[in-house]
Amino acid sequence: MNQRQLFLRHLAQTSPAPLALEIVKAEGSRIRDIGGKEYIDLISGISVCNIGHRHPRVLAAINKQLEQYLHLMVYGELIETPQVAYAKYLCDHLPPSLNSVYFTNSGAEATEGAMKLAKRCTGRTQIIAFNKSYHGSTQGALSIIGDEYWRNAFRPLLPDILHLEYNSLSDLSNIGEKTACVIAETLQAERGVIIPTKEWMQELRQKCNNTGALLVLDEIQAGFGRTGTLWGFEQWDMIPDIVLLGKALGGGMPLGAFISDIKLMRTLTENPVLGHITTFGGHPVSCAAGLAGMKVIIEENLMNGVEGKEKLFRELLHHPKIKAFRAMGLLMSLEFESFEENKSVIDKCIAGGVLTDWFLFAPQCMRIAPPLNISEDDIRKSCAIIIDSIS
Ligand code: PLP
Repeated sequence: MNQRQLFLRHLAQTSPAPLALEIVKAEGSRIRDIGGKEYIDLISGISVCNIGHRHPRVLAAINKQLEQYLHLMVYGELIETPQVAYAKYLCDHLPPSLNSVYFTNSGAEATEGAMKLAKRCTGRTQIIAFNKSYHGSTQGALSIIGDEYWRNAFRPLLPDILHLEYNSLSDLSNIGEKTACVIAETLQAERGVIIPTKEWMQELRQKCNNTGALLVLDEIQAGFGRTGTLWGFEQWDMIPDIVLLGKALGGGMPLGAFISDIKLMRTLTENPVLGHITTFGGHPVSCAAGLAGMKVIIEENLMNGVEGKEKLFRELLHHPKIKAFRAMGLLMSLEFESFEENKSVIDKCIAGGVLTDWFLFAPQCMRIAPPLNISEDDIRKSCAIIIDSIS
């Protein structure tokens, strides 16, 4: 069997039509397949590679950690310097009330941890989330994602979940004194980049304050400079009680986190003790890589270029078949008439050397979320290929 056949035979498949490109190398904004063909990566492994692939500073940090230790012990028992250093660096770049970090392996696990923390802190059970929001695919996270098609086959799910309409001021009146937490994305990525109003976000914060519900913001796609500020919530001038991180958090390695105030987080140490357990969460190599990656974003000022690059994409991506262009920094969505039209453009883009895809809840929209340090030249080349593919 060739690699493709082995892939289809032995790797559990969840997609009827995987891209199945065989990749041998990735560097910066470029990915190369086994035939030597290069692709400009316009999706960054779904908002993971914000600093591009295999950044030298990340590779150096990984290599250094490899010389010291890999897994030592389950989470939270031994002092592992990479975890401590990264937690401190994250807290130094977050508002003072977000000062205690629980590292997980993934975004979904961060969601799970935050839901447990909110129940534990408030003694309440109701969790409110929003239609067409995505927070992960484990049972708890799946219970709160906002689309019945994706949930239904896996019922029964968590009880006491309420879904509201995102960006609807009137729906916020459903937040009440039984609500443990409200979980919202800073912007809805998988709906095809839906940006809430500042008024709605601030009202959401106010409503949580008034009712004692905790506000959990999912920054798993929006964080780490993608929207032009380090954290998406900075754009709304408000601060969540718990923030969820993942994807770019690990600099290309698997890592997630939920971050809150130490007073809230302490509830996980008693009754029961070990209120949240993970063997591998905060793996030292992932933390070393993630810290190096976050330093690249900050020290190399990658956020400064985001606005200009978004503008360039906007200027270059004009075509009568593009129904809408929505963007917040370098999280962009090109809307077509239908999934079929979008898929045909995506297939042509890939054949032309541009890697892109669609959004989970918006199959008619093309995802454009390149590394933040993509060059202007690669933006121009990829936009020309997209326009050619549409035509
Ligand atoms: N939250 C958001 C906004 C996401 O986009 C994702 C993944 O796409 C997740 C949570 C889940 O992260 P993971 O796939 O690491 O479990």
